[in-house]
Amino acid sequence: MKRLFLPHFPLARRAVVCFFVVVITAVLPAAEPEAIDDAAATEQAVYAPGTSGICFDAAFDGGRLCGCVALSENEYEVIIRPEDAPINNSAWYAFRVTSPEPRRITVRICYEGGSHRYHPKISSDGKHWTPLGPQAYSRDKKGAALELDVGPESLWVSAQEMIGSSELEAWIGRMSRLEFAERSIVGRSVEGRPIWRLKLAAGRPRGAVVILGRQHPPEVTGSIGLMRFAEALAAESEPADSFRQEFEILVFPLINPDGVAAGHWRHNVNGIDLNRDWGPFTQPETQAVRDEILNYQDETGPKLCLLLDFHSTHGDVFYVQGKDQPTEPADFAARWLQALSARLPNYKVRSAAEATERPTSKKWGYETFGIPSITCEFGDNTDRRLIRRVARRAAEEMIRLLLTERDQAAPYSSFRSTYAYRIP
Ligand SMILES: [Zn+2]
Repeated sequence: MKRLFLPHFPLARRAVVCFFVVVITAVLPAAEPEAIDDAAATEQAVYAPGTSGICFDAAFDGGRLCGCVALSENEYEVIIRPEDAPINNSAWYAFRVTSPEPRRITVRICYEGGSHRYHPKISSDGKHWTPLGPQAYSRDKKGAALELDVGPESLWVSAQEMIGSSELEAWIGRMSRLEFAERSIVGRSVEGRPIWRLKLAAGRPRGAVVILGRQHPPEVTGSIGLMRFAEALAAESEPADSFRQEFEILVFPLINPDGVAAGHWRHNVNGIDLNRDWGPFTQPETQAVRDEILNYQDETGPKLCLLLDFHSTHGDVFYVQGKDQPTEPADFAARWLQALSARLPNYKVRSAAEATERPTSKKWGYETFGIPSITCEFGDNTDRRLIRRVARRAAEEMIRLLLTERDQAAPYSSFRSTYAYRIP
C-alpha cells in the first residue's frame, strides 16, 4: 500500500506515478490491509493499495479522499473525513479510480466524523454525471458500498455532479458576454482565489437585488438553482428587459472558492463556516462581499430591495423573515412564494419563517437594510430539471412583483424614505 503526497498533481505525471507504484507493488509481497490515517494526509493524494494496480486519486479541484485500503483484489475501502470538527454532516467525497485491466470492484466508503449523505454520481470525463444505479449501490447507517466497473480510463465518483470553480467561472464568463452584463473580481479568498461578481444592469437602475451562492462547498443544487435564477433575469423577454432597466442584479456565485477546491464539507480553509460570519466578518470572503453590498448604503444610488442566498439541504425550502420582522417591500416573501406556488401547481412550495440568532447573510441583510433576505434551499436529491423550473419561475415572479412595487411606489424613491438604514 502506498500513499503519495502530490498536491496539484498533473494528470500525466499521476499516470506515470500510478504505473511506478504498480511496478513496485507487483514485486512486493501482498501486505496486510492497513488503514492510512495520517493526520497530514491531504485530500489531493494518490493511493495505489494492494497489488492489482488499481489507483485512487483526488488530485483535482473538489477532490476529497483521505485514505484507501485494499480489502481484497476486488474490494477497497476509501476513507472520507471532514476538514475539521465539529462540522455539519455534509459528507462530501470525490475521487477517481483507474485499473490496468477492466474489472468490477466494490468500493466501501467509510466516514470518519460523519455518515453517508449523498447518493454517488459517476462520470467518465468529470463533466457528465449519472447517479449510480440502485443495483450498484447500497448504504447503511455509516457508509455505503459501490459496485464500480473500472478500467484504464478514469472513472470519477463524486457525492454530487461537480460544479466547482472551473464550471462556475465558465458560467460567469458566458454570462458576462451579454451586452448588459459585466464581471469583476471584488476580493480574494484566504488562498488568493477570486471572489467574482456578475452584474446585470441596463439603463439607470433605481433598485437592486443581491444573489449569493456557494458559501458551503458541497451545495451543488444551490448552484444549479442560482445559475438558472440568474439566467432567467438575463432572459430576452419584455419583463426581464424592463427589470434590468429598473434594477441591477449583483450575483456572487462562489463565495467559498477555497472550500470548494479543497472538497470541504462546510468551511473555508480557516475552518470558518462563512454563513456564520455575517456579523463577526473575520474572513476575507465575507468581508469582500459585505463591502460590495454596503455600497447600497449610498442614498444617491440604487435602493437594495432583496437579498437571496442559495444553498442545499435535504429538501427544498425557503427560509424567510419571522412573523414579527416586517420588511420593505412589505410582506414580499409571502406574496412571492404564493405567486410561485400558483405557477407550479404540482410542486409544494415550502417555507419556514424564522428570526435566527446565527450570524447568517439572511440575518445581516435584514438587519442592515430591512429588506426581505431569503435563504433558498434546494434538496440534495431534488430532480435537477425541477430545480431549474422552480428557479426560473421564482425569478419570473420576483421580476413581476418588484416591477409592480415600482409602479405602486410613486415616486419610487419613497421605498427609501420609509426605511432608515441600520448600520451594523
Ligand atoms: Zn448551506
